[in-house]
Amino acid sequence: MPQPSPEFDFSEIVQNTKDVVIVTKADLIDPPGPEIIYVNQAFTEMTGYSAEEVIGKTPRILQASDTEEKEKLAIRKALEKKEAVRVTLRNYTKLGKEYWIDLSILPLRDKKGDVTHFASIQRDITEQKNLERKLQVLCRTDPLTTAANRRAFNEILSQEFSRFKRSQKEYALIMIDIDHFKSVNDKYGHAVGDQVLIEVTERCKDNLRYHDIVARLGGEEFCVLLPYTTAMHAEGIAERLRGKIESMPIISEGSRIKVTISVGISLVCSDDSDGHDAMQRADQKLLEAKQNGRNQVCA
Ligand code: GH3
Ligand code: MG
Ligand code: MG
Repeated sequence: MPQPSPEFDFSEIVQNTKDVVIVTKADLIDPPGPEIIYVNQAFTEMTGYSAEEVIGKTPRILQASDTEEKEKLAIRKALEKKEAVRVTLRNYTKLGKEYWIDLSILPLRDKKGDVTHFASIQRDITEQKNLERKLQVLCRTDPLTTAANRRAFNEILSQEFSRFKRSQKEYALIMIDIDHFKSVNDKYGHAVGDQVLIEVTERCKDNLRYHDIVARLGGEEFCVLLPYTTAMHAEGIAERLRGKIESMPIISEGSRIKVTISVGISLVCSDDSDGHDAMQRADQKLLEAKQNGRNQVCA
């Protein structure tokens, strides 16, 4: 629908909008990339580059090696086909500060209908992205101990199981339950019980490798996933954890609280149908450790 000629200048909107506008030529898509012929005021505010500094260069100067490959490819494909595209990706300012943009690219046509330029419109979504990241971490973390929660653990376990199926590289599970934890709560109070849960988690993390996962599955029950680990190795690690926790100094109102754990170990095996089979075996071993008198490892 043709619209009546406005009584204002469109270029004023483009120049003064808070969204970044970049116009490039449509050719030179191969490195070094499309050539910038125009940037608006918001571009300079967001990136720290003046118009003079970037005219004749390519928007790729805002990207870095960790700018999302999938999104870069989507842009490239759209430019080659001279089509519009919309993606979310990470860019960097002149001073190297990361920011996230919601980016739309539109092909611009001349009177003959040939695409001669692209207009790129970018909105800064760094705040939303940071919030999203924080929420993702919160969704996966137990708030009391900061260990992974059950939901996160299930996801990681399922990925690890798929990796095992591909590579046959085994992983081990260590199932931990604090002994007589109810009486810790009853004797010293719930707040001290909470402190014990925090300290047990820290003791586990301090004594494991960085790629091992410590999760709090609920209450006073934890599971540790040890990638690339044999049964013998897992037993050694579990025994070390048990010893560290037994000798852990937790003092409440002058008296030392003795905390012990019972531990069950299992190894993934090729007959397993999913990651939970090994968890059930570890649970069974944990039960044995409890029945045999607690404060011990059963493998
Ligand atoms: P067992 O040696 O057989 O494992 O005995 P237990 O007392 O540890 O086992 P039980 O499962 O009976 O008790 C677990 C207790 O953990 C009961 C519950 O009040 C307590 N608990 C669960 N979640 C929390 C928590 O977040 N904070 C505190 N302080 N206690 C918790
Ligand atoms: Mg218990
Ligand atoms: Mg329990």
